[in-house]
Amino acid sequence: MMTASKILSLAKRALKSPGTYHAQWFLTRKCNYRCRGCNVWMDQDSDELSTEDVKRGLDILCDIGVLEIVFSGGNPLLRDDIGEILDYASKYFITTVYDNGSIAVNKLNELRKVDFVAISLDTLDEKKNDYLKGVNGAWRKAMEAIDVLRSEGIHVGVSPTISQMNLYEIIDFTKYFTERRIPVWYCLYTYDYPSENRTFSIGQRNDEYEITDLKALAEVCDTLIRMKKENKYIYITKKTLEAVKHLALTGKRLWKCKALKNFLVVDHLGRVSGCHVREPVSSIFDLPKIWRSPPMNELRRNYEQCTRCIYLCYIFYSVHTGLPGAFNILLDQWKSVKAYLKASEAP
Ligand code: SF4
Ligand code: SF4
Repeated sequence: MMTASKILSLAKRALKSPGTYHAQWFLTRKCNYRCRGCNVWMDQDSDELSTEDVKRGLDILCDIGVLEIVFSGGNPLLRDDIGEILDYASKYFITTVYDNGSIAVNKLNELRKVDFVAISLDTLDEKKNDYLKGVNGAWRKAMEAIDVLRSEGIHVGVSPTISQMNLYEIIDFTKYFTERRIPVWYCLYTYDYPSENRTFSIGQRNDEYEITDLKALAEVCDTLIRMKKENKYIYITKKTLEAVKHLALTGKRLWKCKALKNFLVVDHLGRVSGCHVREPVSSIFDLPKIWRSPPMNELRRNYEQCTRCIYLCYIFYSVHTGLPGAFNILLDQWKSVKAYLKASEAP
């Protein structure tokens, strides 16, 4: 939850240690869904860090300058200690937690302190959504979760993964939710390149999902850029949309990847890497020892040349770099920030 003291502490840390503002923590490798574009459910693991170790890891992320954390998985709400983890993280970070819409209504108290709850939902078409999620009733549960969380005053948003399966619906989907003052932020379908060393496998290759109509993707980006001028519930920056549009039309990147520089990921066992498709570089507990070492700088330079994925979160944190990047996000999202803070004040 955003309080004046938290905003002040975030601003001080941003000025003191401009750098790796964003971390994504895959808290668990367990999931109760069977999404067709995802590997997690086919390769589950019941091992995960203890509550105390997660908290210790959060302290370390705070020390290296992380300001914003996203908890995903698997489904992080499957952890019994998720309330304690979210309470702890929310004191120091802008905190987002993902749910596929199946658990949040049973964890309302655990979710009250987070800044955002992201419900993943891909389409307004109930049958299609359930097909994509591999679970009957997924659409109905997600829609219900959005309503319940909102009525409870919890900041909830929807997060569709844009793929060929829903590409032509994304604008109507965005209108539907933003007209109801529900923020929308996006993922972009992609899959992990073959590797034996990756930290955490997520994207599964699926021909149905792969975006073939790149011109339509560019048009979606253009339309969202236009809509954003008036619509404060679209949580993606113009710069990110322009980068995706350019990639769709030319196959070329306007950005260099900033894995390990602007962002990092942590897996369910506490292993840290630049992104989930790269190999682990350290345990979270050893991170302070190596974080500023020459080999890490070498890796950062190496990753800048990498073009192996188009996960939208990694693009977002690559196009916005350092303190100027943070200000750019703030400026771009200023109307959204104001709307968010106003909603936070509401009784
Ligand atoms: S996409 Fe998310 S909800 Fe779906 S199977 Fe993968 S981890 Fe579970
Ligand atoms: S482009 Fe960046 S985020 Fe994607 S695989 Fe390469 S290093 Fe990882």
